[in-house]
Amino acid sequence: MFFVERKSAMALYQRQNELSYSSSSVFNTTYEPGASAPFGGIYKCTGCGLEIGIAKFHVLPPQNHHQHPSRYTPIRWQPVTLHA
Ligand SMILES: [Zn+2]
Repeated sequence: MFFVERKSAMALYQRQNELSYSSSSVFNTTYEPGASAPFGGIYKCTGCGLEIGIAKFHVLPPQNHHQHPSRYTPIRWQPVTLHA
């Protein structure tokens, strides 16, 4: 299994000194289900908010990985935190 799931609304952290701010446009990019993750880290489904952790170049969960109600937009994966 390449990823783990978290269903909280937001990613959590405890030690602020282990995270750094980035203005990189990659955080505004969304990726198709089944695409290769360009960076390892936490990604969020823009449709329902499901978060997953994934390693660099592993395949983001495909369309059939999880189902969310039709009132949500289609599954797109957007980076939340990334490995530098
Ligand atoms: Zn979703």
